Amino acid sequence: MISAALSLQVERPRRLRDALALMREAAEHGHPLTPLAGGTDLYVGINAGAPMPKNYVDLWGIEELRGIERNGRTLVFGALTTYSECIESRAVHKLLPILVAAAREIGGLQIQNRGTLGGNIGNGSPAADAVPVLLAAGATVVLASRTHGERAVPLERYYTGYRQTVRRADELIVRIEVEVPKGKQVFRKVGTRAAQAISKVVMAAVGPRVAFGSVAPTVVRAHQLQAYLEAGGADPEEARRLACADLKPIDDVRSTAHYRLTVAGNLAAELVRAR
Ligand SMILES: Cc1cc2nc3c(=O)[nH]c(=O)nc-3n(C[C@H](O)[C@H](O)[C@H](O)COP(=O)(O)OP(=O)(O)OC[C@H]3O[C@@H](n4cnc5c(N)ncnc54)[C@H](O)[C@@H]3O)c2cc1C
Repeated sequence: MISAALSLQVERPRRLRDALALMREAAEHGHPLTPLAGGTDLYVGINAGAPMPKNYVDLWGIEELRGIERNGRTLVFGALTTYSECIESRAVHKLLPILVAAAREIGGLQIQNRGTLGGNIGNGSPAADAVPVLLAAGATVVLASRTHGERAVPLERYYTGYRQTVRRADELIVRIEVEVPKGKQVFRKVGTRAAQAISKVVMAAVGPRVAFGSVAPTVVRAHQLQAYLEAGGADPEEARRLACADLKPIDDVRSTAHYRLTVAGNLAAELVRAR
């Protein structure tokens, strides 16, 4: 890893406006910078010798991207908010306890201290554990660029395909805003073991809003299941059928499509039984 890391070019701005200026300049020259937050996804790729970008902007020193604020039922997370900060936050415990539950199951302490919400969203993995929680809670991703200022994109519209997002080359995720709807919250992660494992299936629910990870090219909302629950539906088998109708899992090294669909259906049925 040391030799791979030595060949990288890394800019280390201390202010957001400087980071955005660097992003703009690089994008204009056709060599966009890759944002680097905690590095817990990026370093894995670099260490494994995967084809990786060479030019980075390290965001870790930018204080403006840190912190969790609460305003009524709204939580605002700086993009650099770590899992440990979510676990320690009274506001998150109060309003979005399933984010605490998800954070506790992400990696070990080292990963929880470095891994960020901005990185979990930015990585675009369908197996990202915080993303279903934020999606079920109706989060908005705020992007900023030096040229155009800020724009808010509902997380539901942030992904356009497998690891594809609407973020432009000169933009950074600066914060995530969530006006948490009322309703029972549920988080379930099914992996090979209890911790330090990437999900085979993950489900998050806030009231009737249900999202699944690891069962489609992106994290997805279960819209048909939501409509059924909103109409008062209470049959676990129908919930199972409707949840699966919105999912398109694949076979990969961690699991099979059949297993994932079966487990997702079981989680949906269990959700209805527990209501
Ligand atoms: C041992 C281990 C265990 C793990 N376990 C889990 C797990 O259980 N569940 C899980 O979901 N993940 C897990 N991960 C993955 C990782 O820790 C998380 O996805 C984490 O949230 C990534 O955050 P980061 O800040 O480290 O991202 P980085 O590695 O810095 O970046 C990840 C991606 O996001 C982009 N990015 C980062 N910040 C921004 C920003 N502000 N604006 C735009 N783009 C940005 C980067 O360019 C990059 O593409 C694990 C990783 C390891 C190494």
